[in-house]
Amino acid sequence: MNDIDFADLYQEVIVDHSRRPRNFGRLEHATHSAEGFNPLCGDRLKLYVNVKEGVVQDARFEGDGCAISRASASLMTEGIKGKSKKDVLRLFSEFRDLATGVDGTDRKALGNLAVFSGLAGFPARVKCATLAWHTLRAALEKDSGVVSTE
Ligand code: ZN
Repeated sequence: MNDIDFADLYQEVIVDHSRRPRNFGRLEHATHSAEGFNPLCGDRLKLYVNVKEGVVQDARFEGDGCAISRASASLMTEGIKGKSKKDVLRLFSEFRDLATGVDGTDRKALGNLAVFSGLAGFPARVKCATLAWHTLRAALEKDSGVVSTE
């Protein structure tokens, strides 16, 4: 992709997480995993999740992508630990609304993830930020055999 100056967009948290991504690396004994690819930007990631009794115990990711996709995966893996699958999917829809600029998102529920609110004016970057989430949903739904409507 071309190098537009996104200085205004990159908030401190995003820069920090893109430079030092948390939960980066393979997760051994993952119960769920999926791969995601964003052809618009070239972001690739593999996500590993460990779910026990419907609750996310651990999540890690590896791959290669732009700062936004890395920061998003890093913040996401931090944000979903200890949450039920249902809550994770609800968080995904809140996050997608926030990133695309839908009014009335629950920023309190989003916590640190709210740093991506500046993306709304950049549709191409929204795909970078939601890649990890789409991959997460695919991972969670793959193993259960049941697609949740929540
Ligand atoms: Zn990207």
